[in-house]
Amino acid sequence: MIRFSGEIISKPLFMSSNIRIVKICEYCKKEFVARTTVTQCCSDGCAKRFYKARLREKTISRAKLETEVKRKPEGFITEDQVRVIQAKEWLTLKEAALLLNVSSLTLRRWVLAGKMRSEKVGRKHMFKRATLNDSWA
Ligand SMILES: [Zn+2]
Repeated sequence: MIRFSGEIISKPLFMSSNIRIVKICEYCKKEFVARTTVTQCCSDGCAKRFYKARLREKTISRAKLETEVKRKPEGFITEDQVRVIQAKEWLTLKEAALLLNVSSLTLRRWVLAGKMRSEKVGRKHMFKRATLNDSWA
């Protein structure tokens, strides 16, 4: 039931005061013996510092996200989305616009102005990913 490699799987039955779990302190990275499965740090001091550090991280990442969103009024694109788009050979107008960090409207204007090469598939503009960067440069 109990693994000693970080993740601990246990049933409430094991949450007794007799339990001794070897864990790694989340803050100072030292081994320590925990009395509960939820203990993350070796001492109160480490726990407090770890909590503060986590809070700081959260604030920073939220600030980053906010500036990112401001920079991209079309919406936030995740790294995963970028990877998916980058793996494709042909991109839709929306995907190409995301990669170029411009709005779909801007990209459509570029296409109509002849600044960006695209292939028409039916009524849709498709963009060859390989040529996107060329056109961009
Ligand atoms: Zn510690």
